[in-house]
Amino acid sequence: MTEWIGCDKCNSVVPAMYLVKMVNGELSFCGHHFNKFKPDLDKIAYEVIELNKKEETPQLVEMAE
Ligand SMILES: [Zn+2]
Repeated sequence: MTEWIGCDKCNSVVPAMYLVKMVNGELSFCGHHFNKFKPDLDKIAYEVIELNKKEETPQLVEMAE
């Protein structure tokens, strides 16, 4: 298994979808918490990295081709 990053607000029991880099550190959030804190994060974050952007989408494969 590769390194697993969990949401800081869910006590890392939920996989993080976003890594937010700030001048004083970084936080990881699931989609829910990222959206919840986005207004604040926009002010303090200088970079947001979307995680799991690869082909690894275990459950949400719903593309009708
Ligand atoms: Zn969360």
